[in-house]
Amino acid sequence: MNSLDSTLFFNFSGRDFPDYSKTSFDSMLVKKGLVREAGFALETMSRFQDFPSCDLEGAILFPAFSDAHVHFFQTALMMIGVSFEKAKSLRDVFDLLKDFSKKNSEDWILGWGLDETNLSEGRLPTCREIDAVIPGRKVWLSRIDLHSAVANSPVVSWAISKFPDINCDKGHFWREDYIRISGIVYSELPASLKKKGLAVARDRFLKSGVSAVHALEGGWNISDDDVQETAEFLSEPGFHGVVYHQSEDISLSRKNGWPRLGGCLFVDGSFGSRTAALKEPYADFPDSNGTMYRDASQLRSLIRFCTKERVQLAMHAIGDLAIENLVNSHQWVFENWGSPPLSHRIEHFELPDDLAILAARDASLFISVQPAFEVLWGGNEGMYFKRLGPKRVMRTNPFRTIFSRGIPIAAGSDSPVTPINPFLGIHGFVQHPNPDERIDLNRALAAYIYEPHRFSGEIGSRGTLKQGYQADFVCMAQDPFLISYSEIRNQKISRIFVDGVEVYV
Ligand SMILES: [Zn+2]
Ligand SMILES: [Zn+2]
Repeated sequence: MNSLDSTLFFNFSGRDFPDYSKTSFDSMLVKKGLVREAGFALETMSRFQDFPSCDLEGAILFPAFSDAHVHFFQTALMMIGVSFEKAKSLRDVFDLLKDFSKKNSEDWILGWGLDETNLSEGRLPTCREIDAVIPGRKVWLSRIDLHSAVANSPVVSWAISKFPDINCDKGHFWREDYIRISGIVYSELPASLKKKGLAVARDRFLKSGVSAVHALEGGWNISDDDVQETAEFLSEPGFHGVVYHQSEDISLSRKNGWPRLGGCLFVDGSFGSRTAALKEPYADFPDSNGTMYRDASQLRSLIRFCTKERVQLAMHAIGDLAIENLVNSHQWVFENWGSPPLSHRIEHFELPDDLAILAARDASLFISVQPAFEVLWGGNEGMYFKRLGPKRVMRTNPFRTIFSRGIPIAAGSDSPVTPINPFLGIHGFVQHPNPDERIDLNRALAAYIYEPHRFSGEIGSRGTLKQGYQADFVCMAQDPFLISYSEIRNQKISRIFVDGVEVYV
């Protein structure tokens, strides 16, 4: 064995699937980016003496995290815009905007993470208010759930020039109008700016311990060219991305050889924008049950198409009505045509009733969840309570129930919707506001480390540190099994290695 491209790592507590609580190895030989051997005290054995070695100084070592649901290009755009995550009032929003506009000279100013439920005024800014802060340049501010946006008058005029029938009350675009106009906003941005954003996004994932992502890209608001650029960026060494094209058109996926399609391909919208499709009306808007973007016959024909093409399909469904329609359509296709090699997946699956959970199991579906949603909006104080009322808020994101039915769950951030931080999501799993729906730390870790690779068909090459697997791993100073669950969200990684090479210190 040539020792030049190999490293013997030693002096650590190695944790792995299926039980992350115990040390299952304390030394490991990595060669050409792959784990060649993992075991105990390899550094003391004579056959390993010639290899360059790396002392990990007693670190707790896990396979690197994976994020099963991100919008990578959208995250990249966010990295080149202004974030309103910390804004508590409209004044904060305007101060952040003013500050950003002084430091950046581009014609477009993108704003992200606007959440009126966090603002003391309880509403979004108006077009006129933004005009007063930024005259002349184009300002586009997305709501936190990326289902609506507010713009200033230069953008409103530009939007009307593109779509004369566009509907925007006080500069606020939502529903179909949001979908139409956001679709062309991003193609206006310079290529160099987008590239810069992609690199910043990748570094942010690595810094959080994430070496692999499922990147849900394109479709209604991002061009195929931007999807292709993103895919090429994600195939560079030092990071790993699997691309889902958010489209019903399979041609780009075929061209790239991706055996999958979809992502946030909307069956409905979101609770925040009151567009998730519900069986009973919204608690804080009794005139509306939300919006179904696709009906049962459209769902059946798309699922049947993908099943026949042997392609995995991922679709976004949040409200109980949307989920019921989607799982019933899956069940109908499954009973008649079976399942593709990689099971279809449902993204979010936030308010399923018991029958829908059983139907998802019977149709052999994968469920992709975002537990940080519960941290940010769940419980009796949060936005879900306002939108859904006291009864339904107890039924959101029923993680333990889904697990108890034997359905595979992988977790993600939905970045840029929630921060890139697996520990925030793990906190959502183990500290779910409804104690009956909490899952233990071991399962929570598996949903962020091992399971995403099952969903992408890479279970044979990624997600554990067994012989022959990709040597992506993280070090922590603290054993997460030795701290209280309430501290988990503050946990951090100290180092990350991708293909056996350290990429962030
Ligand atoms: Zn979605
Ligand atoms: Zn999403």
